[in-house]
Amino acid sequence: MDKTTAGYDQLTRFWLDTAPARGVVVRLEQSLTDALQHHDYPPAVVSLLKQLAGAAVLLASNLKQSAQVILQAQGTGDVPLLCVEATDALTFRVYASIREHAVLPANAGIATLVAPDGKGRFVLTIAPTNRQMYQGIVGLPSVSDPTAADAGDAGDAGDAGEGSIASLLEDYLSNSQQTQTRMWLRADGDVMEAMLLERLPERAEEDATLAWQAVTAQADAIFAEHFMPFPYNEWLQFAFAGHDVKVHPAQPAGFACSCNIERVLNALKLVGEEELKPLITENGKIETRCEFCSKAYEVNALQFSELFHGVQAAYPVGPRTIQ
Ligand SMILES: [Zn+2]
Repeated sequence: MDKTTAGYDQLTRFWLDTAPARGVVVRLEQSLTDALQHHDYPPAVVSLLKQLAGAAVLLASNLKQSAQVILQAQGTGDVPLLCVEATDALTFRVYASIREHAVLPANAGIATLVAPDGKGRFVLTIAPTNRQMYQGIVGLPSVSDPTAADAGDAGDAGDAGEGSIASLLEDYLSNSQQTQTRMWLRADGDVMEAMLLERLPERAEEDATLAWQAVTAQADAIFAEHFMPFPYNEWLQFAFAGHDVKVHPAQPAGFACSCNIERVLNALKLVGEEELKPLITENGKIETRCEFCSKAYEVNALQFSELFHGVQAAYPVGPRTIQ
């Protein structure tokens, strides 16, 4: 692929003048490398995180305010948590929790890894900066469900099959927004490409339904093929041939982590003083790392007492204490 013309790590919005559809397409490449370099995840986990990242950035691009989109798959499997956060500024970060000594088949899908018992949940959270958050929850498909997708390495196969992350989100969005929505996610090597199409509601007549079906069929066809080394303003014209495609200027997307010492302190406060006190007493400090970017944080005895008491107090501290 010719990166100079492909415009990688960019998001492009578009709409079709000649069909009741608008969409957004994103390509992630260097940003995925940046986000994953802080982790040493097995291939199956990397594949799912890439898909979730593509989906989260698409959803974040639809936010009307300063907010985060958080996608989480939760269960009791070898990978109890997959988590991707994306912001309205089109930055994202990824994290997975993996049980120690777990052996994960390279082509395992989300159901096998996260919830082989069929009791997993997929949680979509919208967290506005200064307002109450909104959360939607759907069940993860079960492995034994014939429509569930352990469709393998979703990416390389151009997967958008039943039970995949894309179809989970399509169902969720179509139900919650009362708008027909389709999502495509595919990876090829280090590149992730994702697209969301929404049916515009103003036209409900039969012609509009046929036009919507025709447009989604064109998208299916284009996602069944290889990546094309075009910038999206050309790619979209090709993909939706026969339509007048209007394209907004591309926006950059990238990895960024929003961790800071205040958030670390807030997290420690939730853990509680009693739980943490032995660490302070023994080491004079608490060392922790950001789960998303591995940045190291250290909380010393003074900060600890201020956190729980608002004043410098009274924990006996060892000789190696305050850093
Ligand atoms: Zn971080």
